[in-house]
Amino acid sequence: MEKIAALRCVECGKAFREDEAMYTCPSCGTRPDGGWGILDVEYDYERQARLFHKDHLQRAERNIWRYLPILPLADNAKLPSLQIGWTPIMEFPELARRWGIANLYLKDDGRLPTGSFKDRASAVGTAKAVELGFDTICCASTGNAASSLAGFSANLGLRSYIFVPAHAPEGKVAQLRIFKSNVLLVEGTYDEAYYLCQEAAEAFGWYNRNCAINPYLIEGKKTAGLEAAEQMAGKIPDWVSVAVGDGCTIAGIWKGFVEMKRFGIIDKLPRLLGVQAEGAQPIFEAFHAGDETVRPRRPETLADSIAVGQPRNQTKALRAIRESGGAMVAVSDEEILSAMYELAQKTGVFGEPAGVTGIAGLLRAITDETVKSTETVLHIVSGNGLKDVRSAQRACPDARRINVSLDDVRAIVAADGPRPA
Ligand SMILES: *Cc1c(COP(=O)(O)O)cnc(C)c1O
Ligand SMILES: [Zn+2]
Repeated sequence: MEKIAALRCVECGKAFREDEAMYTCPSCGTRPDGGWGILDVEYDYERQARLFHKDHLQRAERNIWRYLPILPLADNAKLPSLQIGWTPIMEFPELARRWGIANLYLKDDGRLPTGSFKDRASAVGTAKAVELGFDTICCASTGNAASSLAGFSANLGLRSYIFVPAHAPEGKVAQLRIFKSNVLLVEGTYDEAYYLCQEAAEAFGWYNRNCAINPYLIEGKKTAGLEAAEQMAGKIPDWVSVAVGDGCTIAGIWKGFVEMKRFGIIDKLPRLLGVQAEGAQPIFEAFHAGDETVRPRRPETLADSIAVGQPRNQTKALRAIRESGGAMVAVSDEEILSAMYELAQKTGVFGEPAGVTGIAGLLRAITDETVKSTETVLHIVSGNGLKDVRSAQRACPDARRINVSLDDVRAIVAADGPRPA
């Protein structure tokens, strides 16, 4: 494909043609000791600048395909018909004031077709599978990548095999079943499911959608950064906060912003606030230790979407956060639940645990003055709260039960105190 200049290994720096490497670097491979050989797609930016400019954006449709000149798909690729991208950015100045920052913006990716940020990656991944002539695609996922892949496979008529840890939230598993994916509930962790999926892809000739190793998936994720940059041009936030599991999301968002600067659409870059759960914080630890690679851990957090013990996009993620002059925070499950309730009741935006982990992290970062009172913050709500109702129910008090009696209602209204002014 002419627009792709190279696939470059983030470890050894070698460049490959598309037909030389399907997933990871042929020299580095993927080694569990930390050398992952993840590839990054480099475009012929000079060539693409002729196609990708302000006029093009003015005319283009409001979905991720407006970025096709810098996505790794053929210009005439068969694309999914679901509406992907251009999710709204909303502003909450009063909540920002209460929290002690200059402004708060939310980009609600819980509104994407299957309810999570992962739809950006699946849209590109499934289109790539079709382009490469595969009839079956697979992934291992803690939930959202799976339900997303299942939905996009249904849309494009691909067969999908999905390896999910047996403890995934019911809402996400229901999505897999309704989209008629071949679901394999693995009695093990995400990391174990991941290796099994990789072996199966090799054994049966399936296309492997795992973001961790598939260089094209992160290109889908970068559309969140491209979009946010475009939507906020002229008022680029000081910070962008988002949850970090494998690291592919935050690295993708960064790449999107960087490309928009490169094309002259924006003139300023935000700093990244990466947030992990305390029970799954290997990237947080590496960041603070000044290390390039992470030490794997057994993950333990209710934020299932970021329960990753062995992140594979650690290099891209650590580089992105450092390059941005950003910061990393880790928060407890209690802080995540409390952020979920706080955000929903103050904004009407209902995120799943990983979808609001960045908010919990932001509150920490405000307290320790990493984020200053004069600064603005964009948080990406990366998943819809309805995917994991059990966590939501843990996050807020029970509803009150009454008889069919106005007196019962009266007693409750009296107990609730005066009306809001
Ligand atoms: C996958 C996911 C993340 C984190 O993305 P990584 O690429 O694993 O870092 C955050 N939030 C939600 C809702 C997700 O599904
Ligand atoms: Zn390499």
